[in-house]
Order: sequence, then structure tokens, then C-alpha cells
Amino acid sequence: NRTVAIVGRPNVGKSRLFNRLARKRISIVHDQPGVTRDVVSTDIADGGYTLLDTGGIGYRGSDTPAALTAASEEQVEFAIATAALILFVVDGLDGISGLDAKIAERLRKSGKPVRLVVNKADFDDEKIDLAEVYRLGLGEPLRVSAEHGRGESELRAAIIEALGTAPEIEEARDPQKPLGVCFIGRPNVGKSSLSNRLLQSDRLIVSEVPGTTRDAIELPFEFIGRDGKSYPFRLIDTAGIKAATKLASPVEYFSRLRSLDAIKETDVVFLVLDALEGVTQQDKAIAGEAVKEHKPIVLVVNKWDLVKRAFKERGAFEPYKSERDYREKYEKALFDRLYFTPGSPVIFVSAVSGYEVDRMLNAAVKVNRMMDAKLPTAKLNRAIEFLTERTPPPAIGGKRFRVYYATQTGNRPFRIRLFCNREEQLSEQYRRYLEAGLVDEFGLAGCPIYFDLVGKP
Ligand code: GDP
Repeated sequence: NRTVAIVGRPNVGKSRLFNRLARKRISIVHDQPGVTRDVVSTDIADGGYTLLDTGGIGYRGSDTPAALTAASEEQVEFAIATAALILFVVDGLDGISGLDAKIAERLRKSGKPVRLVVNKADFDDEKIDLAEVYRLGLGEPLRVSAEHGRGESELRAAIIEALGTAPEIEEARDPQKPLGVCFIGRPNVGKSSLSNRLLQSDRLIVSEVPGTTRDAIELPFEFIGRDGKSYPFRLIDTAGIKAATKLASPVEYFSRLRSLDAIKETDVVFLVLDALEGVTQQDKAIAGEAVKEHKPIVLVVNKWDLVKRAFKERGAFEPYKSERDYREKYEKALFDRLYFTPGSPVIFVSAVSGYEVDRMLNAAVKVNRMMDAKLPTAKLNRAIEFLTERTPPPAIGGKRFRVYYATQTGNRPFRIRLFCNREEQLSEQYRRYLEAGLVDEFGLAGCPIYFDLVGKP
């Protein structure tokens, strides 16, 4: 965690200091009506950390001293919960106030690393009663002028000193590492046939009888992508998965599905559906299992040759006007029923004719590549801000779920930490809304996002 939070009572110059460190000239207004700006964040590239201005937290449109004190306290609690380092800003012209002392005490108790910053030390230090500053008990103060830049380089150096130097950029996944895929789906949708088609060999047995049991195996193959490059794949075969002969419960059924183990090994899951049978309840359950593993899913609608043939032989048939119409209606039904798969690509294929099988693999390559994306913190926060303004979370008992700040903490799956108020839990529906919105914003179709919530302590 390389997050640095600026705290301090109102008007000590927190945003000025933020802008100075961010090398931004425009000042950011926190409490414009209708603008949710609880926390302003920016990535400081040369220090490898994220800087937060907490000055917007807690304002409820009231400027009474009590309201300002409450807001400051909320900001401090947020900073303690979030940051690796806290910059506590006091006002060198105004001197130390009772609120400053209160904040200092809370910060000391938290045990968090704190640097005390005396701002507005513009020209003459005489105005500052340093003894008073030292009495805060937070060590040596750094004297700066956010306005004029005095003490800036010392402050930058102090931040780096406290955080340590930036770690090496996390290595993206090795592109030479074969991309693991597996087919999951109900019996008889064509998983084995698709496996066979991919490998173009007889190494896998396709059975006319649903549920032939074989051991799970991993098979390597190469695929020449749309870009002309060769992509190594590993097919984790789940052809042996079968329904147990006697099923006590759905739970038992799924615990028996070896495919679930296979899913853990894969990078991208192909969820196979039957083009003629549509999306069944069982498909939905199987999709749910894949979603639980937080794996990216490509939806594969197999046996498209049968749909083509039906239109060829019969022409239009109720309620479908054409192949394209069938496809559109299928896709719509698919997203209605599998609404919890985040914008997954849908590929209509035929294992028998080989139709669009390449496209299916290209989709896997693309989704796999997206899984390594780094979502810039500032852009991520803008996106969250946009989404929560467009459709605010439902208020329960007059209290609204609020996201103060978001940051990506991992890949595969995307892990995003949401710092939020604890007033209300994030509902599953709203979580999905945020996930879908971010998937859309960052072009991550098919990639699940895992939110980890950090409320106020
Ligand atoms: P699995 O149980 O999901 O592995 O399904 P299989 O691969 O064993 O296929 C089940 C049945 O569907 C077999 O009779 C296959 O020949 C048939 N099948 C699989 N894919 C296709 C396809 O794309 N088109 C057609 N027409 N039949 C298919």
C-alpha cells in the first residue's frame, strides 16, 4: 500500500498542497453542490505512490464549527484506515488550534506513520510558534509553503523516505505461458466435440452418450491469432465430467463436477451452451459456479450449424424471422438469464463445421490480455464517481452507501478496494451495477471484478 493521505482542519491549505505535489495548477473545489468529491486522488509517478486529499469527506453543506470538526474527524479516520503515511497539515500563520491538538492526539494513538507539515511558512518563520507545534507530539515539523513552493523538495524527499523506494513494477503475466482454457457446460452441449475440434486430432473421445468418464488432462496446442502471432494454449479437458447417477442435491451434483477443479487451473472459461435448447436453469447454475471462481468467461453457443440448417430447410419459423434474428433473440435471452456474467463476449460456433471456432480462441486471447490491465487510480475514481452520480446507491433508513475512494489491489481477478462508509452494506445488485459500469468504462468485457470493502473502523 503506497497511499499518502493529507489531513488537517479546514483552510490550512490541504488542496493547495495536494496540487503542489500533484504539479497541478487548477485548484479543486470539494464541496460544490451536486459534485461528489469526497476524496481527490492522483498518482505521483516519480514517487510511485497515490496521494489523497481527504478534505471533501464529511461535508454536509453546513459550515458550523461543530460540522467542520465532525468532518475533520471523519477525514482523519478515513486516512488512518487507508493510508500508509499521513501528512498532517497545520497552519503556520493561524497557529495551532484545539482541533489540531485533537487530531494530533488521534493520529498519535493510531500508531500510523505521520509527517507533520506546517503550511503557509511563506517568508518569515517568526510568526510560527514552533514550541506549540512540537507540543503536538508528532516529531519534527516540515515547514512548507504550498503557495510559493518553499520546502517542496524536502517534503517530497520525506514522503519517499517514509514509504521506501517504489517496488519494481509488478510483472505482467508471462506471454509465453500457455493460456489455460476449459469447456464447462451441461452434458451433451458439445464440450468434447469442441475440444476435439481445437486439437484437430482424435486424442479426445467424443461420445454419443452423455457422460463418458475419463480422467482430466491438460493438452497443449498452438493457435495462430488474428494478429498472425502464435499463441500457446493449454486445454484443460473436462470431458469426463458427468452427472452422478444418483443426485442427492444440487450441491452434491456440483461438488461432483470435476470441472470446478479445472476452472481453478484455467485463465479463461468457455461456458458452452446449446444453440437449439437455449439457456436453461442448469446453464445458469453452472455459470454461477464459474462466476464464484472469479474467472473470465467467454460464452460459447455451440451447434450453430443446426440453426443454419433449420433456416435453410424451413426458411423463417416462428417466432424467428432469420438467422440473425435468432441470434439477437438468443443473445438477449442469454444476458437476461446470465446477467451476472460481466459483459461476456458471446461467440456462436459449430464444433461440427468448425464455424467461428477461431473467433472463440481470439476472444479468449483478448480477454486474457485484458486481465493484466492496470486501472489508473485517478481514472478509476472518476469512473466510480460518475457511476454513483448517474445511479446513486439506494438509501436505506436515510443513509446512503458511499464510496470515498477506490484503488486496484490486484489482477486475476481484478481486485478493487473500495473505501466506503459503513452506514450501509453494498447490495449485491449495486455491486453488479458498479462491476458492469467499470467493465464498460475500461473495456474489460468478460472479466470479473472483485470488490473488497473497507469501511470506517
Ligand atoms: P459434451 O457432453 O458436452 O462433451 O458433448 P459432446 O461433445 O459429447 O457432444 C454431444 C453430442 O452433440 C454429440 O452427439 C455431438 O456429435 C453433438 N455435437 C457437438 N457439437 C455439435 C455441433 O456443433 N453441431 C452439431 N450438429 N452437433 C454437435
